[in-house]
Amino acid sequence: MDQSNNQPPRKPEDKKPKLNIWLAIVATAIILFIISSVYSAIRNSRYTQTTFTDFMTEMKADNLSEVELHYDRILYMTKTEAEKPAAKQKACYTGLPEGDILQLAKDLDAQGIKVNEVITEDNSFIYTVLLYIIMFGAVFGMMTLLTKRMGGGMMGSIGSNKAKVYMEKQTGVTFRDVAGQDEAKESLQEIIDFLHNPGKYTEIGAKLPKGALLVGSPGTGKTLLAKAVAGEANVPFFSISGSDFVEMFVGVGASRVRDLFREAAKVAPCIVFIDEIDAVGRSRDSRYGGNSEHEQTLNQLLGEIDGFDSTKGIVCLAATNRPEILDKALLRAGRFDRQIIVDRPNLQGRLDTLKVHTRKIKLAEDVDLRKIAQATAGAVGADLANLVNEAALRAVRKGRKAVNQEDLMVSFETVIAGTEKKNTVLTDTEKRIVAYHEVGHALVAALEKHSQPVSKITIVPHTSGALGYTMQMPEEEKYLQTSQELLTELRTLVGGRAAEELVFGVKTTGAANDIQRATALARNMVTLYGMSDALGLMAPATVSNQYLDNQSYLDCSQETSARVDEEVRELLRLCYQDSKNLLTSHRAMLDEISEYLLAKETITGDELMAFVNTENSENITEEDFVSEEE
Ligand code: ADP
Ligand code: ZN
Repeated sequence: MDQSNNQPPRKPEDKKPKLNIWLAIVATAIILFIISSVYSAIRNSRYTQTTFTDFMTEMKADNLSEVELHYDRILYMTKTEAEKPAAKQKACYTGLPEGDILQLAKDLDAQGIKVNEVITEDNSFIYTVLLYIIMFGAVFGMMTLLTKRMGGGMMGSIGSNKAKVYMEKQTGVTFRDVAGQDEAKESLQEIIDFLHNPGKYTEIGAKLPKGALLVGSPGTGKTLLAKAVAGEANVPFFSISGSDFVEMFVGVGASRVRDLFREAAKVAPCIVFIDEIDAVGRSRDSRYGGNSEHEQTLNQLLGEIDGFDSTKGIVCLAATNRPEILDKALLRAGRFDRQIIVDRPNLQGRLDTLKVHTRKIKLAEDVDLRKIAQATAGAVGADLANLVNEAALRAVRKGRKAVNQEDLMVSFETVIAGTEKKNTVLTDTEKRIVAYHEVGHALVAALEKHSQPVSKITIVPHTSGALGYTMQMPEEEKYLQTSQELLTELRTLVGGRAAEELVFGVKTTGAANDIQRATALARNMVTLYGMSDALGLMAPATVSNQYLDNQSYLDCSQETSARVDEEVRELLRLCYQDSKNLLTSHRAMLDEISEYLLAKETITGDELMAFVNTENSENITEEDFVSEEE
């Protein structure tokens, strides 16, 4: 291989036009060959072949009727032939010099024979060249048109399709564009350094990192980080998604992998980024069953990673949110042996992300990004980017020049609950039930000690399907939650249903989502957090994927599993009891706030607290609870 590092990087597409020119030339040649052979076959069938001697004999015998003299041949008819109806012209090939042809014409004239045409010059060369050029243009144009029609570069899509490999010479993204993620950046710093100066590492004889696996929930900025590495190191960035390798045809995936690394080798040093590597890299012996296409692709990938010469400066980054299903071979030393965790951002991280995304946006004076960051616990970078953009769009819609806090808060709710759905018409009874349900949640939260403050209650239906919702906002970032806080959360969640039952004596479907969430939380408390007295300090479940909402599965005896269910049910029952008791003892307040909400449709946390504080100056006592906490 002779490519040096200072060669300008070439796009993989650069080769395509040349390929087409060659194709056009070959196609033109073939077409011309066919045309000329057909033409000469037709031409020959029109004439009877004779020789120049024959012609001279007929001439001497004065037996000629019509003659055409061409530079290369003579076409003629004999008098005897001309009488017949289907007479064929005779042709004899000569190649006489110009002078001779003219002399012959004179001689014939002297004999009184009509000479129809005299062509002494050979123009055919120019005609042939012209014909070639026209044909070439036509064929080339047709091929270009065809290629475009088929979606650009789709010609030869099976096998060597490079259409899905994206290369950016310069990503233009730097670490400044990636908020937070300091640990990840630190781990990647070495790779950047290496790409800057591979010699420093090879001199010592250090084995260079071939790749790193970025692990984290969707939208946490893994792609962004990979691009930033390329940007910081100022090297080209190749990217492809693992799912692009997965094809119907056996061998296609493998050939794409080969192409990808071949192109990368041409422009090294560079970054090769494989998104969703789990699509191609999932374990070969897993329960998904054998699939030879998948195995071939994975084997090819493993081979390429082993094969490329890391001294050239190719670094392969991959991203996944399911590291546990990856084939162990991928994680072996010398391959993706480094795992870099890209976490959901904490409060500071979210604040920084908001700052990054509002850099180019005009903000009004009243904007308090910290408040937004506080409200968005659990959101990932992509959510926040989306939130900022929604806010900016809203500001434009409202005809303002800058984004204000209200825009941000409304778009936060939009991102969480969808937009308000004005055309859902509820009956009066339904509306009353929804109001009591929401106030049920809010009041339990407001009256409890360990709860997060309520910031808003609304009974305006939203596109998410919610007929109303109660929003709570944490005051600070929490990394630990106590069992008291979790129990409070449970009571708040079932507070809606408790209010419905208490006031109307009915159970409605409106509580479905609350019940699901409460059950999931209670189950986690029992199976993961060791917060159940009956089971004690034991975790009958194992977390299988911490990046997808803590997916877990039970791995315990059937007997224990039955007890888990029993415990979960009991926990929920007790919390429901607590909620109902609490609301019963504050029934007047429940009615009052619900009426107020019905009238106003949306009320703030402060309005709620005004009711709670004035009417309930004597604080709630511990006797309100049936379940005792330790
Ligand atoms: P992933 O690859 O992890 O699914 P992406 O890198 O595609 O996530 O992130 C999607 C978008 O979210 C990015 O283009 C960026 O706008 C935004 N984003 C995510 N994380 C961050 C971050 N840490 N800082 C700034 N923006 C971020
Ligand atoms: Zn509810």
